[in-house]
Amino acid sequence: MTQVSDLALQSVAANSNGTARILIVDDEQYMCDICARTLQSSAYHVMATTDVNMALQELRSSPYDLLLADIKMPTMSGLELARQAREVDPAIAIIIMTGHTSIENLQQAVRRGIADFLAKPFELEELRLAVDQALHKRRLLQDSLRLQAVEQLLLSSKAINATLDRNALSQIILQTALHHTGCVAGFLLLCDARKQLIETLASPDLWHLLEAGQSTALNAFQSGQPIFVEQAEPLCSNGERQIGRGLAIPVSAQGDSVGVLLLCDDQPGSLRPGTQEMASLLANQAGTALRNAHLYGELEEAYQRLQELDRLKSEFIAIASHELRTPLSIVLGYTTMVRDQSDGERRQYAQRVLDSAQHIKDIVDAMVNLRHMELGQITINLERCNLQHLVQQAVERMQPAAQQKQHTLTVDMPAEPITFMADREKVLLILGNLLSNAIKFTPNRGTITVSTMLWARDRGDLPATGVALPSGKVWPVPNSPTTMWAIVQVQDTGIGIPERQQLRIFDRFYQVADSLTRAQGGAGLGLAIVRELVTLQGGTVWVESAEGQGSTFSIALPYRTQ
Ligand code: ADP
Repeated sequence: MTQVSDLALQSVAANSNGTARILIVDDEQYMCDICARTLQSSAYHVMATTDVNMALQELRSSPYDLLLADIKMPTMSGLELARQAREVDPAIAIIIMTGHTSIENLQQAVRRGIADFLAKPFELEELRLAVDQALHKRRLLQDSLRLQAVEQLLLSSKAINATLDRNALSQIILQTALHHTGCVAGFLLLCDARKQLIETLASPDLWHLLEAGQSTALNAFQSGQPIFVEQAEPLCSNGERQIGRGLAIPVSAQGDSVGVLLLCDDQPGSLRPGTQEMASLLANQAGTALRNAHLYGELEEAYQRLQELDRLKSEFIAIASHELRTPLSIVLGYTTMVRDQSDGERRQYAQRVLDSAQHIKDIVDAMVNLRHMELGQITINLERCNLQHLVQQAVERMQPAAQQKQHTLTVDMPAEPITFMADREKVLLILGNLLSNAIKFTPNRGTITVSTMLWARDRGDLPATGVALPSGKVWPVPNSPTTMWAIVQVQDTGIGIPERQQLRIFDRFYQVADSLTRAQGGAGLGLAIVRELVTLQGGTVWVESAEGQGSTFSIALPYRTQ
């Protein structure tokens, strides 16, 4: 008999490459030789033997596509061999060669689903034709088995995809694998970041993995290939029973190995080729589901960490603002007194202390404001405002700071007054923050332009770079959808903002440059306040910017006339 591979799955790979494997069993050596030579010349992979027991052993250790057997053999009939071959692989094609085709034989053969009969003596061309037809039928049967497996898997996939809890998921995967393959024992092993198999996620009650099982799983994991073993050394045991026959299938997600599914069973009919394909499909699906569960776990953890960080930030704001306010007002009060009672240099020094203390007070005020906004303790007082007047007022307030840096600060506004309902103080605070940033982040002798206009646009059509509005915080917009917006744009010729940071700058304490290395002062709260204040009034804010060229911050407030 020709040398054969003892790894079933290597042969499966050969099969999937298109070369069908045929096993010929006939007690007459010359029949074996003739048939083998004929089929080999048709480029099939052929094994031939006169020994039925050897044939059985071969069928159990390697997958075959077709069995060509004589009906009458000394130790076992061809029909019995066919029955046992079907136990190993229900889809195997079988052709029985017989010199005495009786009705009874034919009936038995049909019951066993045998593909074809070849009456001896036959022409070699007849043999080729019968083999081709039987293999074609086998392919159809395999496709239908595959379809059944996929159908079953689809049902299981609902359960698999419905859970993101890793332990529950592992149990479902293993139970599904055992259910669909009929295997007695199975193990789902997971790997760690260093690509070591580390953890047995799931195994059936009482069964435990032995050293040989571990190393088989590791081999499959490292090679990325399914491995079939049938050996004396057991893979697993439940104390009473030990199993040395198993199939290890790598579990991967997007081409990345995440673990191994090891299925063990010592019954000859188990772990047949169809089962292997199904287990591989399941392993793929399991890999993706496990990866999703893992990512979800990481996301959940990151979210918890972020929430904790957010809580700490809020706490810090509350404590810092509370603890700084009182001593700061004392510093401001006494320094103002000292300044007013001094002249010359002493007065100048006192003024500098006063300016710095005022700067700290601005930051503390910003923190307090933000906290009140977050706690929903800020109310909006709508009153009739003239947008041009508000802009003029804000620009006048910032003129000294702009002049210090020799900026040109101009306005570009329509003559027609834009009069609408808004919270005057809050609009002034918004404009103050935007202008202060434009002045700060524009190198000396820059140009800052403030423009106002009216836009007729649906909310959804406001620029996409806008910041997502936190739900539940939008000031109620009148019943009719607001399609008119009062727009203010603050454009500068400053340092600009890298694209990936353009949304983040609206977060509390976020600053583009490191706070230790940056040249400009500030606590990273201004834009967070702007966002809150604009949102509270039912508006939106966005930025367009190019690094090294400048930025334009825009706000859109609902144009309510009453
Ligand atoms: P602060 O100005 O106090 O740092 P903000 O919340 O007002 O805090 O701004 C956050 C960050 O956004 C700033 O630190 C800066 O990096 C960037 N930024 C804001 N406005 C501009 C601008 N006009 N030009 C360039 N960068 C800006």
